[in-house]
Formats: sequence, C-alpha cells, structure tokens
Amino acid sequence: MKAIEFLFPTLIYRAPLQRPGGRAFNMELLRECRQLRAFDRAGRDWSRRNYPGGYTSYGSLDRLHEFSSTFGELRHKLDRHVRAYARALQWDLRDRALTMTDCWVNIMPRQCAHGLHLHPLSVVSGAYYVRTPRGCSGLKFEDPRLSRFMAAPPRQADCPPALRHHVVFPARAGQVILFESWLRHEVAASPVDGERVSVSFNYAWA
Ligand code: FE
Repeated sequence: MKAIEFLFPTLIYRAPLQRPGGRAFNMELLRECRQLRAFDRAGRDWSRRNYPGGYTSYGSLDRLHEFSSTFGELRHKLDRHVRAYARALQWDLRDRALTMTDCWVNIMPRQCAHGLHLHPLSVVSGAYYVRTPRGCSGLKFEDPRLSRFMAAPPRQADCPPALRHHVVFPARAGQVILFESWLRHEVAASPVDGERVSVSFNYAWA
C-alpha cells in the first residue's frame, strides 16, 4: 500500500487576541505605542541607526510588560495563546513555564523594512498587530531547511502553503501570530502610507 507521510512540521499559530473588548484595548495600546516613541529618545536614536525610517523600542525599552500596566495586560492575554500553542506543539513543559522575557514596539511607516532574522535565546516568539493600514506588509517565513535543498527542482507556483519555501501571513490589527523562535522571518518594506504598528515578544522556557 502506498503512503505519503508529512514529518517534522513547522507550526504557526494565529488567533484574535480576544473576542469582546478587543477594540478598546487596542486603542489604548496604540496610544501608548505612540507615547513611547515621543518619550523614548534613546530608542529614536537607536532606530535611526538600526531601523531606518521607523521606530522600535528593541534597543531601549525591550521589557515593556514590566514597565507599563497596559503591556502587562497584553502579556497576560498573550500567555493564554502561548499555552495553547505549546499544547499544539505537544511540548512537555515539565516543571518549567513559558515566560515572557522581552516585549517591544515597532512602528513602520512607508518604506520601513525588517530584514531576515530569528530570535536567539527564546523558544516562542511572535507579534501582536496594533494598527495595520490596508496593503501593509505581512510576516514572511522562510523554510528552515532552505539551505539543504541544493539540487532539488523548484516547487510548482500554485502548491499549497505547507510545501512552499516562503509563506507570507497578512498583518491584521487585533491578531496574534506565534512561531518557534528559530524560524527565520522578515517584514518587507511597507508599500503604503500610514503607520503599521506591532508589538513583538519572546518567551523563554525557564
Ligand atoms: Fe522578528
């Protein structure tokens, strides 16, 4: 009997952050993201050198969940999603927990991009989308085995996402996306006017 098995999957988790009350919480978060940019001079300087055209608090305020009650509330809401993701991955967490270690803001105006990277020293990473102007860039993932394909023929252009070497998920305000921290990803240059605002975060198993 013939059989095809799919082994070694890469799991991507997506869900709305919350059902009722999401819009009001999101507005509060957006207000704080913009306040941070206004207040965080060190972050604006860091962004000028490392995040051209945009603002990120990655180099200055990267533990926002400990710094602000709104971001603390976001962490609390995200914890639930991270637990669900860990269940889907069938992780045996033993007597250690998945804990948020880093949480920072990204504001991307037109042409701002974030090149391919991964998130070292973490196990789960992700983003929460606060503001996503129509047509803004999504999150692009790269097949972690890309360097091993060598002489393999290309896949058909219309093959399903599970078989592609790159997959882009659209950014949608109010949505959470989670992935394992070793998975390389990027955000292409934003092609639209209007700021794309997101919060990125890492969880460690500690
Ligand atoms: Fe990232």
